[in-house]
Amino acid sequence: MSESAFSKLSLAEPLARAVAEMGYESMTPIQEQAIPVVLTGKDVMGAAQTGTGKTAAFSLPLLQRLLKHENASTSPARHPVRALVLLPTRELADQVAQQVKLYAKYTNLRSAVVFGGMDMKPQTAELKRGVEVLVATPGRLLDHIEAKNAVLNQVEYVVLDEADRMLDIGFLPDLQRILSYLPKQRTTLLFSATFSPEIKRLANSYLQDPVTIEVSRPNTTASTVEQHFYNVPDDEKRHAIKQIVRQRGITQAFVFVNSKLGCARLARSLEREGMKTTALHGDKSQDERLKALDAFKKGEVDLLVATDVAARGLDIKDVPAVFNFDVPFNAEDYVHRIGRTGRAGASGLAVTLVAPSDTRLVADIEKLLKRKIEIEALEFDEDRPRGRINDGRRAWRGNGEEEERRERSEPVAQERRREPRPPSAPKDPFFDQPYEPPAREEAPAWEATAKPANRISANIKPKRKVAALFKGE
Ligand code: AMP
Repeated sequence: MSESAFSKLSLAEPLARAVAEMGYESMTPIQEQAIPVVLTGKDVMGAAQTGTGKTAAFSLPLLQRLLKHENASTSPARHPVRALVLLPTRELADQVAQQVKLYAKYTNLRSAVVFGGMDMKPQTAELKRGVEVLVATPGRLLDHIEAKNAVLNQVEYVVLDEADRMLDIGFLPDLQRILSYLPKQRTTLLFSATFSPEIKRLANSYLQDPVTIEVSRPNTTASTVEQHFYNVPDDEKRHAIKQIVRQRGITQAFVFVNSKLGCARLARSLEREGMKTTALHGDKSQDERLKALDAFKKGEVDLLVATDVAARGLDIKDVPAVFNFDVPFNAEDYVHRIGRTGRAGASGLAVTLVAPSDTRLVADIEKLLKRKIEIEALEFDEDRPRGRINDGRRAWRGNGEEEERRERSEPVAQERRREPRPPSAPKDPFFDQPYEPPAREEAPAWEATAKPANRISANIKPKRKVAALFKGE
């Protein structure tokens, strides 16, 4: 039996069966460390990101400990909420709830998920039938508490998952209220990508003598992320993305932006330029968001433009490239964003487009990563078809972003030729043709052994492989 085999945990048969069915061969580092601790009932403060297997790390031991309450009664009173899992976003809540359901499928323990943006009635009906494990976002849970649909006085376990993100979103008052409804005698598990001073304060207030567990990003030691910071004024950023996608033969990428409005606008504009693009942001309906995700996962779209909140923790791995169209306001988001690429030992590309006004934000990232960031010049192909460039600008302006372009032009941009645009829609065959991603049957660019460097413009500085973040730190 391997050292990290699940069988060494002696999980109850229904849980072991569910795990075996999932096809997990061995435990991930967070599972190896956290499961035995949670099984003892101790509080845990875990530094682990989504993608590390942390959902199983807390749900399996939690379900194991709840098995003593398992019963087949139809009476709701026999199924009070015993474990509460709080997450910052609907997608995360949905994702975690689905996993919990799979792990609990051979038990009589019930689970449910409640989050905003959906009708409360079906959620209410499910709560009234009784559930042992309740997965929720804070706002909607409070609605249910107020409506007396959820009673939390028998909660034995509470999981604050993606706690740093919950604080970022401003959920602290909601969390405090929710926690005030719970019995003092309980086990509290807190997971966060980072242990910021705010997280430590939260832990000091609500955790008792916690065991601290830290794991690095998955495959940290094996993977490499090639990071570039390019000096690109705002009005050239879309061209930069297009150019790099083309030069590198990138098949799929995440494009991060800082605002919902910017997200929708950028997605529309890239789409208009022939790139298969979809947007993921908080103003989209739940259904739209799930569809967007699904399309990206199936490879039907090439670019997923997303805000941090919408993208955080989504179970999408191994994206060949991540673009930071906007430098994140929060340096920690840089780590989360580029954690999307370079997983599973593959090399990934992370490109951050830095406008002149972003230098302070880059300095924050430098501080967090404890290394100097070199901002490189990105020179645009001069031989690229002109129609694409001008059309792009027209679309940008047409979207009412004129004021955002301001006087931010960089020397690089000023040197570029700017042909006057024809007044009517141009008939440029290149622009009109749909964007064609590189042949998918080939090995993806990020896995190919051939060095992508020979596809890079001679004007781009040679790539610098950097060990994945936090390696050895
Ligand atoms: P999480 O970090 O909990 O969101 O998990 C990320 C993904 O890893 C999910 O798709 C899980 O199904 C999967 N996963 C969790 N534990 C393991 C494991 N021990 N072996 C393989 N995959 C796992």
